[in-house]
Amino acid sequence: MNAEIITVAPKTQLTENPCLKCGACCAYFRVSFYWAEADPAHGGTIPPELTEDLTPVLSCMKGTNRPQPRCAALIGEIGQAVRCAIYQGRPSPCREFGVDWTPEGLCFTPEDLARCNQARAAWGLPPLLEEPHPVPQPEPQPLRRVS
Ligand code: SF4
Ligand code: SF4
Repeated sequence: MNAEIITVAPKTQLTENPCLKCGACCAYFRVSFYWAEADPAHGGTIPPELTEDLTPVLSCMKGTNRPQPRCAALIGEIGQAVRCAIYQGRPSPCREFGVDWTPEGLCFTPEDLARCNQARAAWGLPPLLEEPHPVPQPEPQPLRRVS
């Protein structure tokens, strides 16, 4: 997650982790990563049987490289109750996705909130949060001497 542009929706706004009832992003994007993440001999944490080759250097989560993706590690029903079967060892793009439930509330980057909302829309789910729009800044005024 990019530490410079994190926004927090406090728990007064969202009272529980929305991802536990969603899972749309796990059934919308292709989840690809460097092949060694699924090779125990190289310290990889992803079970190789849940992956497939994508290019000579990239693998992807099985089920995500097809027209109607759904990650093979996703358990449950999208929009109802879901969990990741390999959460502790999930691939780097999943760990780095910038929508994250923390003790303070939901942290997100604007870019990944947009991707989250895109995935949710594809599954007929409402936007998680409205995407923040830049606030127009007033034009700087010339300094005037007060006599
Ligand atoms: S689409 Fe958004 S709300 Fe749904 S699981 Fe992914 S990050 Fe969480
Ligand atoms: S590995 Fe887990 S977090 Fe990543 S896409 Fe699959 S189910 Fe979702």
